[in-house]
Amino acid sequence: MTGAPRLEIDLDKIYHNARTLVERLQSHRISLTGVTKAVLGSPDIARVMLRAGAVALGDSRIENIESLRRANVLAPMTLIRSPMMSQAFRVVKSADVSCNTDIEVIRQLSIEARRIGRDHHVILMVELGDLREGIMPGDLAGVVDDTRRLPNIHLKGIGTNLACRSGVTPDAENMARLSTLVDATEARAECSIDVVSGGNSANLNWLFAGAEIGRINNLRIGEAILLGRETLFRQPVTGLFTDAFTLFAEVIESKLKPTQPTGTIAQTAFGLKCHVPNRGDILQSVLAIGAQDIDPDGLTGSNAVTVLGASSDHLIVESARRALPVGSEVAFQLDYAALLRAMTSPFVSKVFHPQTLPPGNSAIASMRTAN
Ligand SMILES: *Cc1c(COP(=O)(O)O)cnc(C)c1O
Repeated sequence: MTGAPRLEIDLDKIYHNARTLVERLQSHRISLTGVTKAVLGSPDIARVMLRAGAVALGDSRIENIESLRRANVLAPMTLIRSPMMSQAFRVVKSADVSCNTDIEVIRQLSIEARRIGRDHHVILMVELGDLREGIMPGDLAGVVDDTRRLPNIHLKGIGTNLACRSGVTPDAENMARLSTLVDATEARAECSIDVVSGGNSANLNWLFAGAEIGRINNLRIGEAILLGRETLFRQPVTGLFTDAFTLFAEVIESKLKPTQPTGTIAQTAFGLKCHVPNRGDILQSVLAIGAQDIDPDGLTGSNAVTVLGASSDHLIVESARRALPVGSEVAFQLDYAALLRAMTSPFVSKVFHPQTLPPGNSAIASMRTAN
């Protein structure tokens, strides 16, 4: 065994989720870009997404895209966060496409692309209410024209992203707005916009409710593939696995202790106040994992184990039924924040099942040229 803490990753469940979503999107003529940012750009998971029919991979960090390239993952790759000006060279070198909102950045991409004799594709992101990244709709025409004039840059698409900063729900209105902007851009600039990327896992409710799809022909999906949930209410998506990832942590102390601390109470390691109702003595265990490795609020235990608290390196749980033996392991399901941190933490080992994937790279290679 690889030891604890350990994240066990069921690639068959991830494949099933990705394949199911690809098929459901396909029936609306929408392609799926598989987003790998929550799994640190894992090549194993990226390959599973591609085998399931993702047309491209997306990640927010150029470092993750670079490591996918190093692992010889063959697919079109999109940087889904606006590039840093200082990373423009790395972006044109490793990513085929980037999502952009600032013409100065696109100019820099053009300079670097020209310097190394490459073409770089750009998706312009439009602000439709969530107030994270996006060009204000009234400014889109100007940015489109400036972008199309730049050497070695191709305007590949227009997109939007909702539900991330402010929780704005993708709905008939804002999705129709995106389609209208695309139609207006094509008519005015006499060009065709190939990719209309309507959003992320938060768009699934809109899609499955039988909405008017309009011009939208792509979604960038991460969490729904990985954790099997839509992201507006975090409800399971019908037919998907929500337990592809399981975290194991080891018990290093197990004792009957009071529910309430004693002494004068100031702030905790993370500046919080500790308020707990008195329930007398309870069975408490300390596990060797902490806020450096997971979001303690994002863990769900099994076997009547509940999380009481955490500091950087200790997780305290209550076990309702029996004392957890020191040296034993406790299993947890993770939410998005906990998964993100566990994948990023070098202290959490990752174990993939099955360990070797069936071949499938030739199909992927042909997809790269097709896209
Ligand atoms: C994170 C992200 C996604 C994927 O979001 P999920 O909720 O994981 O599906 C898509 N697009 C952009 C721009 C993102 O930042």
